[in-house]
Amino acid sequence: MPNLSFVSPTRNSPWGTYLSQIDAVEPYLGHLGRWVETLRRPKRALIVDIPIELDNGTIAHYEGYRVQHSLTRGPGKGGVRYHPDVTLEEVMALSAWMTIKNAAVNLPYGGAKGGIRLDPALLSMKELEKVTRRYTSEIGIIIGPQQDIPAPDVNTNGKIMAWMMDTYSMNTGATATGVVTGKPIELGGSLGRVAATGRGVFVVGREAMRRLNMELDGARIAVQGFGNVGSIAAKLFAANGAKVVAVQDHTGTIFNDAGFDMTNLLDHVAATRGVAGFKGGDTIANDDFWNVKSDVLIPAALEGQITAERARRLQTRLVLEGANGPTTPDGEAVLADRGIVVVPDVIANAGGVTVSYFEWVQDFSSFFWTEDEINVRLDKIMIGAFKHIWETGEQHKIPLRTAAFTVACTRVLQAREERGLYP
Ligand code: GLU
Repeated sequence: MPNLSFVSPTRNSPWGTYLSQIDAVEPYLGHLGRWVETLRRPKRALIVDIPIELDNGTIAHYEGYRVQHSLTRGPGKGGVRYHPDVTLEEVMALSAWMTIKNAAVNLPYGGAKGGIRLDPALLSMKELEKVTRRYTSEIGIIIGPQQDIPAPDVNTNGKIMAWMMDTYSMNTGATATGVVTGKPIELGGSLGRVAATGRGVFVVGREAMRRLNMELDGARIAVQGFGNVGSIAAKLFAANGAKVVAVQDHTGTIFNDAGFDMTNLLDHVAATRGVAGFKGGDTIANDDFWNVKSDVLIPAALEGQITAERARRLQTRLVLEGANGPTTPDGEAVLADRGIVVVPDVIANAGGVTVSYFEWVQDFSSFFWTEDEINVRLDKIMIGAFKHIWETGEQHKIPLRTAAFTVACTRVLQAREERGLYP
């Protein structure tokens, strides 16, 4: 399994998962298959030490990463994650999925990702700012508006993007709004960016349901992860007639057979920072989430959630991947056997980076669009990309993930071939 000396992936670990996805697409690449090995290794990976003085006067060190998996189709693009489980191997996989995602929806970017191994809940605001600024300064040698553009991901947000933008700007001596996306509106952020990933999940889910002759009205939805992606996707499904029957987050799992009142649930989560203790439903054991009867299951938390064991228990028709890499190769094989359709992350959650692209374009032209203009353009890109991937799947009789990889890898490797090798 290890294809590189500096990581030791296993079959179902993030990089192992990505490699098996590349193996699956290889037969569909035709003459471009000659270049496929370029996708099995990141172009560049930077590991940085981030020392900061904590509020109590001690010095703490954190390990941070920025991986540029591919710069073939344009600058690197992808979020930055703060989480205690972040590793180089994980960031590599996340950066590779960005390459595939950006190419699948045809954004003019390569793929990159960053992360710091820390638990942000244990840091004060001041400490978080110090970590963010030092990290930005350390990766400053490889990021930039034309080189690699970070954005929010798990546990990062507009505030962190503002610090990143400021730090980079201070170091380079000019305000560079285009160096990060997902910024606050006042600093060159885009309307619609916060909701974009969840909105894309909904739009792609609705299209997939149409293709599968599934009714949206009354459809039962189960959501794992109730952050920026899961909560907005759930809200949009409910607003369009579906019933959100189960939600799991880091605080617990709740269930309501009749569907939650979403306004009450969102208010509860805003006030308490989690679904635990919500009165409009029953608390169930975390593990029972995987047995809930649903039409659509939306994993919108972390990688590796749908294992073979859980896949055997799922009672759903459609898995809509809001998270990156939530299904392991073993889980995927079980889902395929059971006829459960998977709409892969690289298309289902591409709405976020699509509006990041709009933000970057608006920053360059210093001309800002209305929220309606953003949403109309976002929906058009998502619907078009999904259609292309669905038709590619039908044409080759392959699962949607392999179809998305076929479309994306063909674009990346075509560009690779046209550019040629240097020197
Ligand atoms: N972190 C998001 C993702 O995984 C967004 C990346 C971006 O906007 O660059 O797609």
